[in-house]
Amino acid sequence: MSQNGKVRVLPEDRHNATLVANVHPGDYRNPEPAPRYNLVVIGAGTAGLVTAAGAAGLGAKVALIEKHLLGGDCLNVGCVPSKSIIRSSRVVGDFREAGKLGFRVPERVEADFPAVMERMRRIRAQISHHDSVARFSKIGVDIFLGGGRFTGPDTIEVDGKTLRFRKAVIATGARAVHPPVEGIEEAGYLTNETVFSLTERPRRLAVIGGGPIGCELAQAFRRLGSEVVLFHNASHILNREDADAAEIVQQTFLREEIRLILDAKLLRVTKTPGGKVIRYSAGGSEQEIAVDEILAGAGRAPNVEGLGLEKVGVEFDRKTGVKVDDTLRTTNPRIYAAGDICMSHKFTHAADAAARIVIQNALFMGKKKLSALTMPWCTYTDPEIAHVGMYERDAKAAGIEVETFTRKLEEVDRAIADGEEEGFVKVHVRKGTDQILGATIVARHAGEMINELTLAIVGKLGLGTIAGVIHSYPTQAEAIKLVGDAYNRTRLTPFVKKLLGGWLSWTR
Ligand SMILES: Cc1cc2nc3c(=O)[nH]c(=O)nc-3n(C[C@H](O)[C@H](O)[C@H](O)COP(=O)(O)OP(=O)(O)OC[C@H]3O[C@@H](n4cnc5c(N)ncnc54)[C@H](O)[C@@H]3O)c2cc1C
Repeated sequence: MSQNGKVRVLPEDRHNATLVANVHPGDYRNPEPAPRYNLVVIGAGTAGLVTAAGAAGLGAKVALIEKHLLGGDCLNVGCVPSKSIIRSSRVVGDFREAGKLGFRVPERVEADFPAVMERMRRIRAQISHHDSVARFSKIGVDIFLGGGRFTGPDTIEVDGKTLRFRKAVIATGARAVHPPVEGIEEAGYLTNETVFSLTERPRRLAVIGGGPIGCELAQAFRRLGSEVVLFHNASHILNREDADAAEIVQQTFLREEIRLILDAKLLRVTKTPGGKVIRYSAGGSEQEIAVDEILAGAGRAPNVEGLGLEKVGVEFDRKTGVKVDDTLRTTNPRIYAAGDICMSHKFTHAADAAARIVIQNALFMGKKKLSALTMPWCTYTDPEIAHVGMYERDAKAAGIEVETFTRKLEEVDRAIADGEEEGFVKVHVRKGTDQILGATIVARHAGEMINELTLAIVGKLGLGTIAGVIHSYPTQAEAIKLVGDAYNRTRLTPFVKKLLGGWLSWTR
C-alpha cells in the first residue's frame, strides 16, 4: 500500500482519497519533538488512539507514532469495512426469507458487488475523521507519521527524530498469520489487509479459517454471490464457542451452500490457468479444489518486529506478543502495552478498555487490572453468537458449580413475528444463587442483547433482578427476562408453594 513514502489505499477513488487525507495525509510534516513527553505511544489503532487522547485530555504531553494509517485495523481493514459489507449481505439473507414474509421474490437476488464495496469505502471515509491526524493534533497530541523504534532506555526514533519519554506504550497490534502452505505465496492470497480493496467479486473463494473473521467473511461473500469453500482445522466451525451455539451457525452455512471442509489440512496451492488449485487432506483422503481467490483468515500474529524491544528489555513472544503483567506493564517498568500486541482478547472494545487501564497505571501510579474486566464479544454471522463471562467449562475448571437457564427464541413472540426463531439465550449462575457467571446468546442481534447481561455482571445484578426489569414488548431481548423468570420459578420450592396455597385457600 505504500509507495515513495506516500500511503496508497486501493482503489484510488474519492472515498479512499478522503480516508487517506484524514488518517495519513500526504502533505503532513512531522512536528519538532518536545524536549520530553509524559507518554510516547507507538501505533495509532484503537489502543494507541484511546491512550493518546485520554492522556492528552488529562494534561499529559503525548506523542503518537503511526507508520501506516491512523485508526489501525478496526477502521481501515477490520471492524468497519467488514461490518459494512456484512450489512449489505444481510439484505440477501432477508430476500431469501422474503417469500415466507409474504413477498413474491425472484428466484435469485444478485448483489452489485462493486456498489457494495463502494458503499463500504464511503462509510469508512465518513467515519475516518474520528481518527484523523487533524482531530488528534487539535486535542494536543503530537502526531509522528513513520515507523517507531526504541533506541535507548528513554528514547524512541521516528523519521530521523528522537522522542524522549517518561513512559511509553506499545500498541502496534497484530496482522493475519501467513498460512504455512506450500506454494501459497507464489499463487497469491488475500488477507484482511487486501480483501477490502476488491472491486470485483471472486467467483470462487476459498476461506482459510472457521474462526470469527473467517466465518463472518465467508458468509458475507457467499451472500454477495461468490461460491465459497471454508477450510477449518477442527471438526466444527467457531469451535471456541459452545457447540450448541456454533451448530446453529454451521447449519445456516450449510443451508446457504457454503461448502465446509472440516478437520482439513492444506497441503499445497498451485496456480494454473483454471485458477488456484488447493490440495488438501480431510476425512482420510487427499483432494483438490480450484478457486479464483484465497482469503487467509486463520490466526493473528503480533507486530513485535523492528521495534527494538530487545534493546529496552521488553520480553516478547512471536506468537503471543509482548509479555505484560495484569497491570499491562511490560518487563521494562517504564513501558506498557495495550491491545492486540499483548492481549488474547483481540477486539476493539478490549483495546479501548486496556488503553484506559494503561493511562491510569502508567501516568498516575494506578493499579488497575486487566483481569478485573468483564469482556463480552460477538461474532457477526447471521445469526450472531455473543458471549460474556464464563463458559460452563471455565466454571467447571475453576471448581464452581453452575446452574444453567436457557430460553429458545422460538418461545419469544417478537422472534416468532420476525421469523428469527433460531437461537437462544443461555445464562449460567453460581449454583444456589442468582449470580450471573456467564452467558451465550445466539440471535440475529445477539451483539446488542449481550450488553444487558454484561451490565448485569458488572453491576452485580442477579437473574432475579433481571426478572423484575420490565422489558418492552415485543422485543427479542425479552428472552433474557424469560431466563430470569425461569430462575425465579426455581425459588418456588414445594414448601413455599404449599404455604402460598394455604394462604390463598384461607383468604378465598
Ligand atoms: C476482519 C476483521 C474484523 C474485525 N472485526 C471486529 C469487530 O467486529 N469487533 C471487534 O471488537 N474487533 C474486531 N476486529 C479486531 C480489531 O480490529 C482489533 O482488535 C483492534 O483493531 C486492535 O486494536 P490495536 O490498537 O491493538 O491494534 P491495531 O488496530 O492493529 O493498530 C496497531 C497500529 O500500529 C501500527 N504500527 C505497527 N507497528 C508500528 C511501528 N513500528 N511504528 C508505528 N506504528 C506501528 C499499525 O500500522 C497499526 O495502525 C476485527 C479484526 C479484523 C482483522
